[in-house]
Amino acid sequence: MNELHLASAAELSRLLARGEVSSEDLARACLDRIERHRALNAFLDVRPEATLAQARAADRRRAAGDQGRLLGVPMAHKDIFVTRDWASTAASRMLEGYRSPFDATVVERLDQAGMVCLGKLNCDEFAMGSSNENSAFGPVLNPWDTRAVPGGSSGGSAAAVAARLTPVATATDTGGSIREPAAFTGVTGAKPTYGRPSRWGMIAFASSLDTAGVMTRTAEDAAHVLSGMLGFDPRDSTSVDRPPEDCARDLERSVRGLRIGVPKEFFGDGLSPDVEQAVRQALAVYEGLGAELVDISLPNVRLGIPVYYVVAPAEASSNLSRYDGVRYGHRATDYGDLVDMIKRSRAEGLGAEPKRRILVGTYVLSHGYYDAYYIKAQKVRRLIADEFQRGFASCDIIAGPVTTSVAFDIGENASDPVSMYLADLYTVPGSLAGIPSMSVPCGFGKAQRPVGLQLIANYFEEATMLRAAHQFQLATDWHRRVPDGFA
Ligand code: GLN
Repeated sequence: MNELHLASAAELSRLLARGEVSSEDLARACLDRIERHRALNAFLDVRPEATLAQARAADRRRAAGDQGRLLGVPMAHKDIFVTRDWASTAASRMLEGYRSPFDATVVERLDQAGMVCLGKLNCDEFAMGSSNENSAFGPVLNPWDTRAVPGGSSGGSAAAVAARLTPVATATDTGGSIREPAAFTGVTGAKPTYGRPSRWGMIAFASSLDTAGVMTRTAEDAAHVLSGMLGFDPRDSTSVDRPPEDCARDLERSVRGLRIGVPKEFFGDGLSPDVEQAVRQALAVYEGLGAELVDISLPNVRLGIPVYYVVAPAEASSNLSRYDGVRYGHRATDYGDLVDMIKRSRAEGLGAEPKRRILVGTYVLSHGYYDAYYIKAQKVRRLIADEFQRGFASCDIIAGPVTTSVAFDIGENASDPVSMYLADLYTVPGSLAGIPSMSVPCGFGKAQRPVGLQLIANYFEEATMLRAAHQFQLATDWHRRVPDGFA
């Protein structure tokens, strides 16, 4: 029972089913650990009464015969999903203390499945960042090395799962914010196909890219939580109308004969040797399991970063125009006329990174630059998406590194936005294409910091991607490693 925090969601689910633990006990154990590890700054809002009420409701459902696989399993939400029972801030002063009148669809679905929410997780402000240093409420520490960033923007989700504060956390990925922090903290992080999880109630950053997903310890858990999370939502205009799907259906199938595309552009200049070594060893594990490695080329992925940093800020500048001090959020107390009130409210409420993106976005959308930047970026975005389709003609999944290096130090990239943006070199292309991808722990690099293997699948092929990840985890134990002090 002392080892409960080390258990995966699947293991907890079995203990709950056998009546060996109640969901109330589990929730209390997690809340205690969260309290004990406050210094990580992973959580922004914890309300034990709300959590325990959900846990007791789950126990009652089980007593009444409900055997749902996620029922009573603890989890926590990235503070980008709006929740009625906890504050919803997107880690911005602009929304400090904001209480939503409704739950995001993702929150609602996992709630209906009976998962028990432990609170809200820290992140970069409006999910803009790669290190969680942009949170208005302070950085999150990486449990593997508290001098290192946990990655971002879902740094709280990653740190909380890595430190075994929760077995499951939601997260969002616009350009890499699930995969990069998962890689930096040695957890499993999966982003499904764009349009499969609902964006309703997800505080918007770049709407054509924003995708909800999960962080867990195992691919098996990710498959089950995603199955509970995905599905058509008429309230989201880009939601894909497909029948519900069991993302775990292929987990037990071997990878014998699976064709794994290895793009040479993911192993070029800029990739640290320690990361390359761990990723190459992971590819060798797949070969040992009978998969076939296929060399492929994706020449345009190098344009991913410039395209993303036109498209994402353009959409952000539009999405963030809603924070005007009138409808909700921060309002300056001291102002002259209406325009002055809006200016001051935005100046006070928004941090440096959102401001930078609003400026860039407004610029690339302005008359005279729209064709040169925004339209051009959209065209190149299409080329990148098409290139993945050509790649998938000769393979079933694509594999490579998630990041160019292991987690960097807090402060190391903070004053250089461009070097920070390069953290997403390998994750942004898949986001621009809208295809599913994930990070799986595959070893350790410099300073004993974790390395992630990226698996990328074609549209709606989550089950294939998760199967590849699960089979890797059956053959390796990187995902079971626990940072010192958190075992
Ligand atoms: N790091 C990228 C950015 O700053 C991606 C963020 C994300 O995926 N939300 O935009």
